[in-house]
Amino acid sequence: MNTTDITDQNQGQNGAGPQNPYYSRTDQEHLTVSNAEWKRMLPPDLYAVAREQATERAFTGKYWDSDTRGTYYCAVCGNKLFRSDAKFASSCGWPSFFEASRPDSVIYKPDHSYGMHRIEVICGRCDSHLGHLFDDGPAPTYQRFCMNSVSLDFEPEKD
Ligand code: FE
Repeated sequence: MNTTDITDQNQGQNGAGPQNPYYSRTDQEHLTVSNAEWKRMLPPDLYAVAREQATERAFTGKYWDSDTRGTYYCAVCGNKLFRSDAKFASSCGWPSFFEASRPDSVIYKPDHSYGMHRIEVICGRCDSHLGHLFDDGPAPTYQRFCMNSVSLDFEPEKD
C-alpha cells in the first residue's frame, strides 16, 4: 500500500486537508497544538469528539458496520491506529477493535466523567479523544476499543 501519496496530498477524509499541516501518515513525532488552533482546522463534528470528548450517536458513524480490509488512521493527525484484522462485529454501534496497530499508537487515561469509571483512549501522536476501552472484547486480547467513526480515517487495502 502506498501511503506516501496520501500523506503528501493531505487526502484524508475528515480532518486532513490543506488547512491541517499536522496531518501525516508517516510522521510519529508527538504534536502539541492548542485547541484554538485545532478548532480552526477541523470540521465541527470531529472537533467536538476529538477535542471535547463528545460521543457520536450509536449506529450513525460510517465505520461501525464496515468489514472492509484496510487501515484506520487518526482523522485529526493521520497517526496509524488500527488494522481491519483487529476489527470485530460488535453490537454496540461503534467501530470496535481488539487491539491497536502498535503499543504506542494510543494512550490510556482514567475517565471518571458521568459517574462512570472508564478508560479513555486518545491518539498517541496528537492526544485527540478516540473513544473508550472495555474488557468485554473477543480473544485474543478480550479488550474492546470502542471508537468514534468520526475520529477515524479509513484507507482500504489495495490488491
Ligand atoms: Fe491523532
